Parts: sequence; structure tokens; C-alpha cells
Amino acid sequence: MSLLITNIGSLVTNDPALGEGPLGLLADAAVVVDGERIAWVGPAAAAPAADERYDAAGRALLPGFVDSHAHLVFAGDRTAEFNARMSGQAYTAGGIRTTVAATRAATDAELDANVTRFLAEALRQGTTTVECKSGYGLTVADEARALRIAAAHTPETTYLGAHVVAPEFADDPAGYVDLVTGEMLDACAPHARWVDVFCERGAFDGDQARAILTAGAKRGLTPRVHANQLSYGPGVQLAVELGAASADHCTHLTDEDVAALAGSATVATLLPGAEFSTRAEYPNARRLLDAGATVALSTDCNPGSSFTTSMAFCVAVAVREMAMTPDEAVHAATEGGARALRRTDVGRVTPGARADLLLLDAPSHVHLAYRPGVPLTAAVWQAGVRAF
Ligand SMILES: [Zn+2]
Repeated sequence: MSLLITNIGSLVTNDPALGEGPLGLLADAAVVVDGERIAWVGPAAAAPAADERYDAAGRALLPGFVDSHAHLVFAGDRTAEFNARMSGQAYTAGGIRTTVAATRAATDAELDANVTRFLAEALRQGTTTVECKSGYGLTVADEARALRIAAAHTPETTYLGAHVVAPEFADDPAGYVDLVTGEMLDACAPHARWVDVFCERGAFDGDQARAILTAGAKRGLTPRVHANQLSYGPGVQLAVELGAASADHCTHLTDEDVAALAGSATVATLLPGAEFSTRAEYPNARRLLDAGATVALSTDCNPGSSFTTSMAFCVAVAVREMAMTPDEAVHAATEGGARALRRTDVGRVTPGARADLLLLDAPSHVHLAYRPGVPLTAAVWQAGVRAF
């Protein structure tokens, strides 16, 4: 079954060969979807026939958002912590342990229901690809369980046993690193594509992070790193050195960190929801973009420091607070996320790509930042299937 989506007022392809600028923008465009894939992209006047026809009525169509950083397997709630923080208390990595206790106490069905709910919430807002991390179990069985549950929903699963040191190992962090690089890795590797570590004061230092990422890589998992979020540190340099797919957060960067990212294939993934929800200073996207680094935007959806599934919200904040242009922010939330996941089949509207499409109830992708907080989703297709 093929579908012609026509009368698209403004189409973001993310292919400069297909249209104007880095977004490859096309006006008065059409897209033909054949099964799960995009079969044709071009001017509406030249579109081939298809089995079915959808009239976009002059609205904007863009690739479904690619959320390359999320923590969705958890139970419990941290409203009180957020409320206290907004009343003046500082954010530290230690709050993660609250969610660890709730997650361990939850049943498989409860955790799966949460993931299902958050993915549905994201899909309604145009997110068609989501990465999902473990990291709220911190035992062999609980980390493997989190990844098993995540893998039932997405191929982009990340082993984050090194989120924080498990409470049982508070006096023996080296022992916990041994577990994370040994028995826990053995149990988790079959369910994961990526390995991640929270390289931060209060979590894991550079040497520990290196040991964890290297052990994961030996088991076929590609590194990604929670780097330089709360303070300057070795995370970004380590990510680049180990060929990580992304360095995530990048809030505190030296000139050397920026240069390292710009000279590498490691994507700088910025997570403005975290700074928003911890009332912290935003990362400087302008500095990264001007240096030539590839930038992605993601939600970091988690119950402690960024409880949003909205990529549109992240786009709006990035434009308002991080000196990104609307074009740059939309690119980072689609193609940038795809690059952070080393995917070439999502994040773009090009022949052969997966038919993941977001139709906005607006004439331009700029409205994502221009009309913050407004539900602009008119329709969503995921792998060619109308999902909203
Ligand atoms: Zn995170």
C-alpha cells in the first residue's frame, strides 16, 4: 500500500541536495510512502500516483523527532525533590538513589507500563525514535531486567549500570566498578546496543569511566557518555578518545573540549530539559556549532532532573536560551539525534528512509519555537503507519 502526502506547505528533508539550506527545505512539496519506507520526495506538481492520498493543507512536514537520550525504565516519582529544588535546594547526583529504590520494588509489568506510557506520550508529540537507558536497578538482575523491558520497545538500548554507585557499594566504589564491568555487563550486554557512564563528581571519575566504557566496547557495545554536566571534567575528552557516538550534556566545556568534539565524529548531545528542571546554566550551543561540532537535542527524560518527553519543548528552550536558530534546533532534534545513534534511516525525509513523519498544525517548523508550549501535532506516521 502506498500513500501520497501532498500539498505540504514546507517540508524539512534534512538533505541539502533535495532543498534549500542545511534543512533541505522544499515548499509546495509531496512525499510518497511505500510500506515502511519513503519512496519519493519532491515538488507536489510532479508527484507520482499512489494508492491513497493525504492532503496536508499547506502545513509543515518534518522527520519524526529522534530522542537519543532518555531514561524511561523507572518507577516512583520525585515531585517533592523538584518542588524543594525550585524552592532553593541544589541538584546533586545522589537523588538517583530515590528512584533506584522505587524501581527495584516495582514489578516487571509496572515498569513496562511506564515505558509504554512515556513512549505513547512522546509519539503523540512527534517522537518516532527513542533511546532508552537502564540505570535505576544497579544490581545484576535489576539492570538486566530494565534492558530486557526497554529492548521490547526500542533497539536503541543503553547499559547504564554506571549511573551512580549502588547504595550497597557506598564504601567500595571499586568493587561496584568490578561488578559493572564483570557479572552485570555479562547479564546486560545481550539486551543492549550501547554502554554509558555518568562521568561526574559524585558518580564515576575518568579512570572508572574509562574502565567501564572499555569493558563494554569489548562486549560489542558502543560507548556514549554523560559528560561535563555539573562541572568541568574528563568526560568529553574520554568520549572523543574512545570514539563514543555522543557526549551528552556538555554544559561545562573548556576550549579544548569544544575543539575535541569539533574534530571528531562524537556528537554533542545537549539536554536543555535538565538545565530547565534544575534551574542551572544552559550549555553554549553557539560555541559548539560555530566550532563545527555536530549537535543533537534530546529530552533526557527521567524522573529526577528532566521529566519531559517533549522534543518540541527542547527545541523551544534551545532557541530561546541556547542561541540556536530555529533551523539549527530542528536539525539537532531530528538529524542530530539520528547521528548520535549512528542511524541513517531516521531523522530525514529522503527516499529509502523509514517513513517517520511529523505533520505540524502550522505552516513552518519555526512554529515549534515560535509557539512554545502549544500542542502542534497534526499527524504522526511511524514506519509508514499512522500513529496519531
Ligand atoms: Zn541522562
